[in-house]
Amino acid sequence: MITENLRNLYSKIPKNVKIIAVSKTHGEEKIMEAYHAGQRIFGENKVQEMLNKYPILPKDIEWHMIGHLQSNKVKYIAPFVSLIQSVDSKKLLEIIDKEAKKQNRIIPCLLQIHIAQEETKFGLNEDELWKLLNDTSIKDFNNTSIQGLMGIASYTENESQIRNEFRYLSNLFQQVKKQFFHDCPQFEILSMGMSNDYQIAIEEGSNMIRIGSLIFGERMYQK
Ligand SMILES: *Cc1c(COP(=O)(O)O)cnc(C)c1O
Repeated sequence: MITENLRNLYSKIPKNVKIIAVSKTHGEEKIMEAYHAGQRIFGENKVQEMLNKYPILPKDIEWHMIGHLQSNKVKYIAPFVSLIQSVDSKKLLEIIDKEAKKQNRIIPCLLQIHIAQEETKFGLNEDELWKLLNDTSIKDFNNTSIQGLMGIASYTENESQIRNEFRYLSNLFQQVKKQFFHDCPQFEILSMGMSNDYQIAIEEGSNMIRIGSLIFGERMYQK
């Protein structure tokens, strides 16, 4: 099924859109099935789960952290993570930079923006975003590279609300690029869209979608 789901998805998605296979809660075998179907980028939302999977799976997999990240756990993923999509404070960015420096590498990051109506979703609001970008001390963070924005839309049936939230993030992305990254070609990632709303996200300019259940089926949470 996973192979079929992925082929189906690949055939529907424009070439410029990257698919992150969100493998949280799913085991090694399912991930390998996706791997054999050609998938190389996987997303996890928990540090411990990523740490369990990383050593036993092929080394050409790119691991993306997509969930809320605690500062004290950055050091564990710093040696290998390829993109941290959930940066939501200057403090976190600073720690990622510090840990990346210890590893002698540059860690690509996205700033997570709060676009949903739900209170519980993490992310920066617009004021916090401008404050962070205007903070001149982030220029000294030589071991992180801010490559774009990420957002999660409201969990709702209301399509026009979802579309509005994606459109808002897309406009914000363009503004930020123009004002802060106009000479940085690596600032090019707009990560928005999940299983239920990726089509709307792509219509609104997404070039990175994070797909879990549509590839792997429903998640089984234990306990
Ligand atoms: C779980 C998760 C996804 C994937 O969700 P699906 O609805 O299963 O596609 C995408 N992004 C984030 C941040 C997630 O936590």
